[in-house]
Amino acid sequence: MATVAGVAVEDGHWIGGERIASAETFEDLSPIDEQVIAHIARGGAEEVDAAVRAARAAFPAWAATDRQERARLLHAIADGVEKRMEQLAIVETTDNGALLRSHLRGVMPRVAHNFRFFADWLLGLGRDDFETRGHRNHVSWDPAGVCALITPWNAPLMLATWKIAPALAAGNTVVLKPAEWSPLTASLLADITVEAGLPDGVFNVVQGYGEEAGAALVAHPDVRRISFTGSVPTARRIAAAAAAHLVPLSLELGGKSPLLVFADADLDLAVNLAVEQYDNAGQVCLAGTRLLVEESIAEEFTERFLARARALRQGDPREMGTDIGPQIHRDHLARIDGFVRRALDGGATALLGGGPNTDLGGLYYRPTLITGAAPGSEILREEVFGPVLTLQTFRTEEQAVEMANSTDYGLAATIATGSPERAERVSARLVAGTVWVNCFFVRDLRAPFGGARQSGIGREGGDWSFDFYCDVKNTVTAPWEK
Ligand code: NAD
Repeated sequence: MATVAGVAVEDGHWIGGERIASAETFEDLSPIDEQVIAHIARGGAEEVDAAVRAARAAFPAWAATDRQERARLLHAIADGVEKRMEQLAIVETTDNGALLRSHLRGVMPRVAHNFRFFADWLLGLGRDDFETRGHRNHVSWDPAGVCALITPWNAPLMLATWKIAPALAAGNTVVLKPAEWSPLTASLLADITVEAGLPDGVFNVVQGYGEEAGAALVAHPDVRRISFTGSVPTARRIAAAAAAHLVPLSLELGGKSPLLVFADADLDLAVNLAVEQYDNAGQVCLAGTRLLVEESIAEEFTERFLARARALRQGDPREMGTDIGPQIHRDHLARIDGFVRRALDGGATALLGGGPNTDLGGLYYRPTLITGAAPGSEILREEVFGPVLTLQTFRTEEQAVEMANSTDYGLAATIATGSPERAERVSARLVAGTVWVNCFFVRDLRAPFGGARQSGIGREGGDWSFDFYCDVKNTVTAPWEK
């Protein structure tokens, strides 16, 4: 048991309704001061097998539990999340360095909403029967079995519960492998599921490293679904493992999303949208990190952007006035800086930032804006996953679309324009799972979420989640003899 920011957090796995230790542990550091905050059980094939067996054993009863009861239990989990909102928020902030303000105001309420939404959606799930030459077609959503869920560190509980809630609602049982850089709130969620009365074995957590616990989980022959959010290289390994048993996969991956600013845009709004891309110290898959600005307004846009960005307050993420906190880990900070150094060495200029914040030390990286990067260069193609934006200009709508679509990714795109016709035209041509027009990060769980190209496979949200977590069945019945 660890005590983190005054909150007791179990450091073992959660398997079949029991806390299980491992022979070895790994250190969990806080990005705020790089101090060790917990020693977490380091799971491997043995713990994964125990968790999958527990989940498999719990599956028949959970799958047979009627919808009303499953929905009631998911709402009880949401109640638990709401009751423990402040604890979850401070533990998450201490563990991954994201702003406490965001956790309290946005993230944790959405965690609760994830459970409520999928509980309610389950109750409405279904299509009207239809007839084929007098034969009745009846579509049903049968739970698939044990679901392996693997999640990243940048929004740990939020992203995990996007998967846990629909998987459980659909009648599946779950083994979650949280990211090793932010393992704690998954452990608190296990406590909440107990308080809510979820049967043992329905929800399991195996802690550990990706190459150990994660790899063992996706290779397990009794896993029926794999849902992964993380990076492209890891997704390739997981897809290869899933191929062995032809397990259906959902992959939510990285991005290099564009923010297109047309000359007819409300410039204040466009600048606000651009500054918002530094949210979570740039560690957001959806971030519109490529600012594509129409040439005629580029100078004014840049001036206003720099003024706003310079006013951002960087510092301790626990303070409510802070706008930008630390990066997650020293290795990640070095990776971000590597991208920036190579861009600058290649002839680009940093109009803002361009290196670690030496006044603050630790893991703080200055919000950075890079211009003059060579076309096709790494900084314009690869996901940095830090507070690093690039600025490029365009002359025509045609050129803007071409630049927007010029990466291997296709997660999201944002358009700032005063013209509804242009918004429609451009949106139709963008390769992206989500397009926001004059807004950013508005997310409704009824809508599909996912990426095109290397940004992923599949969609999450509403029916799309149930389609993935279920074996969808059609039963065709001939007319009964009278
Ligand atoms: P990552 O791929 O390094 O790790 C993600 C998870 O996979 C971790 O839990 C890790 O332990 C596990 N893992 C690593 N190797 C594994 C293996 N061989 N087998 C099974 N599991 C393994 O990603 P990250 O650095 O934690 O997260 C950042 C990435 O996630 C970025 O690319 C970001 O864009 C992406 N992301 C995408 C979305 C989205 O919804 N599209 C949301 C958030 C983050």
